[in-house]
Amino acid sequence: MSVQELVLKQRTEILHALCSSGSAEHLEQVLDVLLAEEELSWEEYQNVQVPGRALYTNARQLLDLVYTKGVDTCGLFLAALKQVLPEAKGVGFSLTGCRSSLEGKEEYQSTSSQTLLTQRPSLVRELQGCTDGALQALLISGLFTTADCDDVRLPIHTPSQQARRLLDHVRSKGESAAKTLLQYIQQTVCTPHSHLNTLNIYSKKLSSSVSAQSCFLSTYGGTSHMSLDDIYTEGQLELGHDCADAHGSLGLEDIVGTAGTVNEEADTVLVSGEAGSGKSTLLQRLHLLWARGTALQDFLLLFPFSCRRLNSEQRELSVQELLFQHCCWPDREQEEIFQFILDHPHLILFTFDGLDELKQSFSDEHRLCCPTQRAPVHVLLFNLIQGSLMKGVRKVVTSRPEAVGPLLKKHLRKEVFLKGFSPSGIDCFVKKHHSDPAVAAKVLGSLQTNTALLGLCHSPVLCWIVSQCHKELLGCGEGSPQTITDVYLMILQHFLQRQSSQGSTAGSGWLHEHLQTVLHLGQLAFELIGTTCYIFSGADLETCGVTEKDISMGFLIQSKDMSSTRSKRYEFLHVTLQCFFAALYIVLSNNTDRSTIPKLFELKDLKETGLSSACFGSCLPSTYQQEGEATAAETPNLQITATFVSGLLSQRHQSLWLHCCPSAVMEKRVRQVVRCLSKGMQKHFKSIPQPVEGEKKSMHAMPGFVWLIKCIYEMQESRIAKDAMSKLEVDHLKLTYCNIGPVECTALAYVLQHLKNPVGLQLDNNSVGDVGVEQLLPCMHICNSLYLRNNNITDEGIRKLIAKGIQCDNFRKIALFNNQLTDACTQHFSHLLKTKQNFLALRLGNNNITAEGAKQLAEGLKFNHSLQYLGLWGNKIGDAGAEALAQVLESSNTLVWLSLAGNGVGSRGARALANIIKNSASLEEIWLIENCITRAGVECLIQALEHNTHVKSICLRNNDLTPEEVEEMTQRESRLIF
Ligand code: ADP
Repeated sequence: MSVQELVLKQRTEILHALCSSGSAEHLEQVLDVLLAEEELSWEEYQNVQVPGRALYTNARQLLDLVYTKGVDTCGLFLAALKQVLPEAKGVGFSLTGCRSSLEGKEEYQSTSSQTLLTQRPSLVRELQGCTDGALQALLISGLFTTADCDDVRLPIHTPSQQARRLLDHVRSKGESAAKTLLQYIQQTVCTPHSHLNTLNIYSKKLSSSVSAQSCFLSTYGGTSHMSLDDIYTEGQLELGHDCADAHGSLGLEDIVGTAGTVNEEADTVLVSGEAGSGKSTLLQRLHLLWARGTALQDFLLLFPFSCRRLNSEQRELSVQELLFQHCCWPDREQEEIFQFILDHPHLILFTFDGLDELKQSFSDEHRLCCPTQRAPVHVLLFNLIQGSLMKGVRKVVTSRPEAVGPLLKKHLRKEVFLKGFSPSGIDCFVKKHHSDPAVAAKVLGSLQTNTALLGLCHSPVLCWIVSQCHKELLGCGEGSPQTITDVYLMILQHFLQRQSSQGSTAGSGWLHEHLQTVLHLGQLAFELIGTTCYIFSGADLETCGVTEKDISMGFLIQSKDMSSTRSKRYEFLHVTLQCFFAALYIVLSNNTDRSTIPKLFELKDLKETGLSSACFGSCLPSTYQQEGEATAAETPNLQITATFVSGLLSQRHQSLWLHCCPSAVMEKRVRQVVRCLSKGMQKHFKSIPQPVEGEKKSMHAMPGFVWLIKCIYEMQESRIAKDAMSKLEVDHLKLTYCNIGPVECTALAYVLQHLKNPVGLQLDNNSVGDVGVEQLLPCMHICNSLYLRNNNITDEGIRKLIAKGIQCDNFRKIALFNNQLTDACTQHFSHLLKTKQNFLALRLGNNNITAEGAKQLAEGLKFNHSLQYLGLWGNKIGDAGAEALAQVLESSNTLVWLSLAGNGVGSRGARALANIIKNSASLEEIWLIENCITRAGVECLIQALEHNTHVKSICLRNNDLTPEEVEEMTQRESRLIF
C-alpha cells in the first residue's frame, strides 16, 4: 500500500490521534515540521491553520491537502506524525512505510526569514520561555508595535502558540525583524545573562516594586489599607482652556498621549490640581496599571519619584544614582542598564509627584547635560523637567497650580488639570467605599440635603473623609458639617474615638480627653510645615513628644520609601491633615508667639518688608527666611492652615475648646483673626484702580482674594462677612481663571450676599458646575450680571439658577458661552423672558441648542419687551430656528444685538431675518458669520437694509459666496461686512 493510500485509509485514526486530546498542539507541531521541510507553502499553511475554526476541520483540511499533494508529501506527513506522536502506534494505525526520519536540512540558510522557517520546530520550543523578552527586543528595535505584542501575548494562547504567533508576526514584518529575533534567541538562549535578559530581569524587579508600592491606599496610619482597585474612581481631567482640543473627557492614558500638546519639543507633562484633588492617587493608579501591563505599555521602564521624599536627599547624585538608588537597584550590570536607558529615551517614563512640595522653586539657571555628573537633587530634577538632561524621556509631574510659574510653563509639553470628582464620581466613590448599599444610599441621601457638604465632596480627600465618617455624619442631624473645618473636626473625632473602648465620649469632651495627642501631633505639624518638611524622623517625633499611642491614632503613616534602607519615617495621611494639626496647635497651644496669627495671615507684608523669622519661627519656609521671599510652592499650605485657624476659632466651635484653653486666650485669638481678615480685604480693595471715565469700576481678584473669602466663610459669622463687604464698592467683580469650584462658590455667596450695591459677577473659565450654581443662589439678588462662560454647567443647573433669578429684581444679564446646555434649558429661559420685563442680555453661545430650543426661546421672546442682546453663536438652530426667532423679533423694539453666527443658517433663514431688519427700529448689529447663506439670502438682507438706517453692520464672513459675489455685494452695501 502506498503511503498515499495509507493516509486515506487511516484517516479516522489519524484524525483521532491528532485531535482527541482537544488541544491543537499535535496538529500545530506537525504543521511546524511540514513548514520546516518546506512541504507546505506559507499560503497552504494559512489555509489549514485557520484561527477560530474547529480543530477537527483544520485537521481534515490538512489531510485533504497532504493527500492531493502526492506520495512524497504523504510520506513526510507520516514521518512528522511519528516524530510528534511516537507513541501513536498504539492508537490504532500503522506508520509502516513512512520515512523513519526527516532529512536534516542544510545548516546554512540564505536569509534569516528562511532560517526561522526551517528551524521552526526547535524555535517554537526555545521561544516558549522567553516570548516576553523577544517581544521586548522587537519593540525596542521599533520593528514591533505594542499592538503586535498584545496580539502575540493574548492570554487565550498557550506558550507554544504564543511562540508560533510570534514567529508568524515576525515573518510578516520582513527580514530585519527575523534577524533581530534570531540575534535575540542566540544571545538569550546561548548566554542566559545577556544584555536583554538582564534588562528583562530589571524591568520585572522594577515593576514588581512599583506594583507593591501602589496597590493600596492607607486609611488609618499603617494599620488599615484599602485596595486601589476597589476604591479608585475616575477624577475629572481637563486640558488647558486655551487648548484647541480642550473639550471632551480625558482618560488616564491621554496624560501621556498627544491630545493637548502645546510644545512638541518638550517632554514634561504637568498634572495640576489643588491639595486633595487626587494627584498622587492618579499617579499611583498609573503606576499600578503600568506594572500590571495594562497601561502605558509603550514604556519599558517607569521610574516613580516623590518630591516629598527627594527633599530629604542631602547628597549630590548623578541621574544614574537617582534612578537606581531612589527607585530600583539593578542587581547586576548597572552600567549596561543605564546605557540602555540613555540609548532608548522614548521607552522610559519618569513621574514626579508633588513638585510643589520640593523645597526649591523651579529655576532653569543651573544647566546640566551630563547624566553622570553629580548635582543636588533639585538641580537634577529641574534639568530633567526642562529636558537638558535625558532629552526624550517622557516625564509626568504633579503639582498644585500655585507652584507653577511661567518659567516652568515654558518647558511643558502640555498641562492637564485634575478637577476632583464629578457629581457622578462622588456617587461612584461613596458606593465603592461602602459595600453595604443601604449605607451608601444613606450617605448619598444626606449629601443631597446638604449641598454645601456635597460641594466639598468634589474634592476626593474630603469625599473620602465624609465616607469614612459616615456614622458621625448620619448621626449629627442638624449640625451636619458645612465647612472644611467641620469636615476635618469630624475626622479628628472619628480617628480619636475609633479605638476608644468606652465608645464615644458624650458631648464635646472628646477633644479634652485626647488633648495631649492633638498637641503633640500639632506641634510636629506646625514646626515642620514651615520648613517644607512633610516626612518626619524618629527624632522629630521625639522632640515634639509624639508617643507610640499618638502614632497609633492613625493620622501618621509610615513613609513609603523606594530605597527603604533607612529607619522608620512618618508623614501625615494627607498634607491637608498636617495643615489642620498645625492650625489646631496655633489655636490651642500655650507655646506659640503672640504674633503667630498675624504673621500667618500677612505673608505678603512679611515678604514686602523682608522681615525675618524672629517671631514666627519655623512657621515660614527656610528659603523664605533666608532670602526674604517665600517659594510660591509653600504659600498654599500656610493658606490652608490659616483657613483652618479661622474655622477653628469660629463661635460655633467654642464649646469644643472650653476645657482645653483659657477663654480669654481664645477670644484674643478670635479678635486677631477677625482683624487680619478685615485688613486683608481692605488691602485688596485699595488695589482697585479708579475707573476710566465712562467705564465701570471693576475689580479683578488678586491672588489671595478667594482665600480670604474662604477664611471668612469658615468663621460662619455673618457679622464678619457684612463688615468685609461694607467697604467694597465696585460695579464689576472679575474672578476669571481663579479655580473656583463648588466649594469656592459656597464661600463667595456667603460673603458677597452682603454687598451694598449690585455687581456684575464674572466667573468665566472656572469649574462652577451645577453644584456650584446652586451654591451661588444666595447671592443672586446682588448680581446684575452673571458671567459663567466655560464652567461645565448643564440644563439642571440652569433650571435652579433661573428659578431663583426670576425672583431677583437686579438680575438682568447672563452669559453662558461654552457650557453643556441643550434644548432642555430653553424652556427655563423662555419662562424668564416672559416673566422678567427688565431682562437685558441672554448669551448662550457654543452650547447644543437646536431649532427646537430656538422655538422655545421665541415663545418667551414673544412676550418680552426688554431684551437687548441675544447671543446664540455656535449652536445648531438652522433655518427653522432662525425663522422662529425672526418671526417674534421683527416686532421687538428693544433688541440691539443679535448673533446667530455658526448655526447652519442658510438663505431661508436669512430671508426671515431680513424681516427683522425691515421692521425693527432698535437693531444695530447682526452676526451671521460661519453660516451657509448664499447669494439669494444676502440679496434679501440688502433689500431689507434699504428700508433701515439703524442697522450698523451685518457680519457675513464665511458663508456660501464666491469672492466675486463678496466684492460685488460690499460695493452695493457697505454695512455688509465680509
Ligand atoms: P493630592 O495628591 O492631590 O493632594 P491625593 O491623591 O493624596 O491628593 O488624594 C487624597 C485622598 O483622596 C486619597 O488618599 C484618597 O483617599 C482620596 N482619593 C484621591 N483620588 C482618588 C481617586 N481617584 N479614587 C479614589 N480615592 C481618591
